[in-house]
Amino acid sequence: MPNEYRLLIDGIERAGSKGEAGDIVNPATEEKIGEVSYASAGDLREAVDVAARGSREWAGTPPWERGGILKKAADILRTDLEAAARTITREQGKPIAEARVEVERSADFLEWGGEQARRIADRHVAGRTRGSRMEIQSHPVGIVAAFTPWNFPMALAAKKFAGALGAGCAIICKPSEETPGPVLVMARALLEAGVAPAAIAVVFGDPEQVSADLIAAREVAKITFTGSIPVGKRLAAAAGAEVKSVTMELGGHAPVIVCGGVDPEWAADMLSAAKFSNAGQICLSPSRFFVEAPIAERFTARFVERAKALRVGVGTDPTTEMGPLANRRRVAAIEKLVEDAQSRGASILAGGARIGQRGFFFAPTVITDVPDEAEILHQEPFGPVAPILPFADEAAMLERANRPDFGLASYVVTHDARRQRRLVDALQYGVVGVNGPVTHYPEAALGGWKESGIDTEGGIELLEPYQRTKLVYLQ
Ligand code: NAD
Repeated sequence: MPNEYRLLIDGIERAGSKGEAGDIVNPATEEKIGEVSYASAGDLREAVDVAARGSREWAGTPPWERGGILKKAADILRTDLEAAARTITREQGKPIAEARVEVERSADFLEWGGEQARRIADRHVAGRTRGSRMEIQSHPVGIVAAFTPWNFPMALAAKKFAGALGAGCAIICKPSEETPGPVLVMARALLEAGVAPAAIAVVFGDPEQVSADLIAAREVAKITFTGSIPVGKRLAAAAGAEVKSVTMELGGHAPVIVCGGVDPEWAADMLSAAKFSNAGQICLSPSRFFVEAPIAERFTARFVERAKALRVGVGTDPTTEMGPLANRRRVAAIEKLVEDAQSRGASILAGGARIGQRGFFFAPTVITDVPDEAEILHQEPFGPVAPILPFADEAAMLERANRPDFGLASYVVTHDARRQRRLVDALQYGVVGVNGPVTHYPEAALGGWKESGIDTEGGIELLEPYQRTKLVYLQ
């Protein structure tokens, strides 16, 4: 029985008014597994009108109550964790164990959003004349339009739902049309928990049309997007033209600095696991491995061993360690990057090609002798490819590490405390993982520098992008 995903507006799931729909494909089998309804311009207008009502209703729900509802939604997600995880694996491809973690993390974000809702507080500042004071009130910004991607189809949307709903906003989310199920599963949990039905909408369609219509709608106050830098720039420009605030979580190209003093086998084990998690389709994924010359050979040999030993297969098989890529575009993009590097003299030590003819499987790949001009050092790979770049001169390596316009994640591996501090200070990135992988937990704010983003998500700041202040001067 194929899945039929519809638009969710005002608590009701229904087809788009023009009857248009797109196919959903299982990336492990390339089989059509369902259809997703597309919204017409009229459907989007209806979603905005309903959200305007939902925004008033939800903003009027006391923050304490909103907090309880979000926490209840987190519990519902956790109770139905297995079914939600299977939806993620079926549509996105990742191993089921990784999908379970994603659902758990999504629940954590909703719960954190609920907890932060209960901490919303106005501030007072003493006035300059006797008896006067200034009251700085916190208000929900209004209707939020959220655009979320396919690599963590539930968790990356959960951050936005948690912040927007916690703050008291209505949210209209357009998930990736390739992975529509997980956001709908989460939205149903939120409705079951008691969120005002008019305060949540999930719509699908032609991304260009949906984003243009929602950003232009007068009632929409805030735009939040997670995805690629080129799309982020277009959406930010459109939002800027309407003077609407944006939160952008865009791509990365994380340098990893492995210093000479560490055990190369330990470092290779830890970093290869991080690299091939979600088949490398993570914005925080380590993607340029600068390894100090004395240990480069041993590090590379072990990394290659791990890459070759990785069990690649369908995500529903519990023994699978790496699933397929999420879509055909990624296979083509990775093939192109590997071919380009090879044509410029790079050596492929592991993988380098698609596995089989059915399913979007790509072999875990390790390459060396990669010249600076190779595309893979400039474009976010977003796939299972690890370029290893031995270095001898720390200053020259740092210049290369900081050179791209990306500024999301970076990694430092050394037990030398002074060197650790020096490298952490030098890296122009919003996140630095020291001696381990980076995971985004709700209690910490995370955001990119340079072109990798605007604003942060998570932390005690989670609600801030969805709030605006009103200064009341009492005399
Ligand atoms: P893409 O640039 O076409 O799309 C990226 C995301 O934006 C997708 O989720 C897509 O549905 C959405 N999108 C595209 N056009 C849009 C529009 N006009 N309005 C709203 N949303 C729109 O590329 P892709 O092939 O889907 O993904 C490849 C690249 O995207 C990767 O190389 C990676 O850089 C980036 N990406 C980043 C993240 C992240 O977590 N930061 C997630 C997914 C993809």
